[in-house]
Amino acid sequence: MTDGRDGRDRSSRERRGATERAGTEGDALLDVEDLHKYYFERDSLVDRLLGRDARSVKAVDGVDFRVHPGETLGLVGESGCGKSTTGETLLRLREATDGKVRFDGESVFDLSGAELMEFRKRAGIVFQDPYSSLDPRMTVGELVAEPLAVHDEPADAENRTEARRERVDELLERVGLSATQRDRYPHEFSGGQRQRVGIARALALEPDFLVLDEPVSALDVSVQAQILNLLADLQQEFGLTYLFIAHDLSVVRHLCDRVAVMYLGEIVESGPTEELFEEPRHPYTRALLESVPRASTDERDREIEPLAGDVPSPRHPPSGCRFRTRCPAVIPPSDVEIPQETYREVMDLRERLESGAMNTERARELAAEHGNERGNGVNTNGEEGRVEDRGDATTETAARLCTVLFENDIGGENRAVVTETLGHLLDGERDEAVSMLRDRFESVCERQRPVLQAGPHPAACHLYDQPTERPNANPAERTADD
Ligand code: SF4
Repeated sequence: MTDGRDGRDRSSRERRGATERAGTEGDALLDVEDLHKYYFERDSLVDRLLGRDARSVKAVDGVDFRVHPGETLGLVGESGCGKSTTGETLLRLREATDGKVRFDGESVFDLSGAELMEFRKRAGIVFQDPYSSLDPRMTVGELVAEPLAVHDEPADAENRTEARRERVDELLERVGLSATQRDRYPHEFSGGQRQRVGIARALALEPDFLVLDEPVSALDVSVQAQILNLLADLQQEFGLTYLFIAHDLSVVRHLCDRVAVMYLGEIVESGPTEELFEEPRHPYTRALLESVPRASTDERDREIEPLAGDVPSPRHPPSGCRFRTRCPAVIPPSDVEIPQETYREVMDLRERLESGAMNTERARELAAEHGNERGNGVNTNGEEGRVEDRGDATTETAARLCTVLFENDIGGENRAVVTETLGHLLDGERDEAVSMLRDRFESVCERQRPVLQAGPHPAACHLYDQPTERPNANPAERTADD
């Protein structure tokens, strides 16, 4: 198996070996359980004096995974989904809100003093941006030696300064730089070379585990391949265990044994790399894979379908399944017959109504824009109040608005309900409009939060069996934030 970059990727056999080992044998090196990291807004003394409730931003919201010795677990998702915060929190670079992290059997959040220092030696990080993660006032020799100085290493050397210098030279050579570059400053290096310096620095204390936080995303594609190969070689040579954070799935495929997909603070699918790429289960994973350019010639011409919409704010995550506001497979109620694409449009309209993006004013504007061509009785003079000649005229306008808003066919009872809803909206009755749409079209995806099943390839989605004992299974729960 080659990586399609320069053919030096680890073989499938090696990856399979690691995966089988990871899936079935031994204790995990890293065990993350129900990790939460919230940030709080409006939590100042003044806010408390004024009686304002603190508002939480759920960057990481109940994440579980394990990484076995020698394994690489990929953590992927779009920007802002909580991947980097997860990596930094489990290393104690950020304080966790809740949850447990065990490293080699020890509870990381309970460590202090010498034990914490030991953890910091064994678990490190390579940051995304080789431009900002290196102090421009230090030479690369000083940068690589700094962790050694902080930890008083090498502890048993007679001449520590000399031993550190030798170690720095060794590391620079090992990551593909030269010991003669020791006295240069970061600005004298290219992006790829700076990332090599970052890797040398992370290796200085001979760690067992590294969080690789988007280590190649700031680099040119040709340089990416070199750094990925270097990381793979170093893993083999030093028996390293990686948590590889990335938004680029093509990068993940060639370095990781298993992949966990994150969306808005939660893991929505995880599984062995090849299986997840060949048979993705969660609609979000499928959409991510769809948007990756393909290398093979017969697929190169296919249209790439970008994932619609943006990741919602973690301040107000959607109720139930957090992907439901963008999911192309969102599940309609069992008693409503409606094509999938049309249902997606209905859900988008609901979303716009509930968020206020579609309100009476906007509906009237739209109706006027499209109605003026044919003449209609909509009152667009901006006055509060009902549409003139309401009744038949309103219904006619609402029907026309329905046609404007829907690209796909909507017919029968579904059309009747949507038209009546739009009539309420045109009449300034937003609450009625919202509840009318909700009554007919509410999905299980918004009522219940799906969770991961047991097993090697779980997906948190109502399209698959949900555990009968669900940790967040409260059917009455619409949302944690409503
Ligand atoms: S639970 Fe529903 S909205 Fe969420 S991914 Fe599955 S089908 Fe889509």
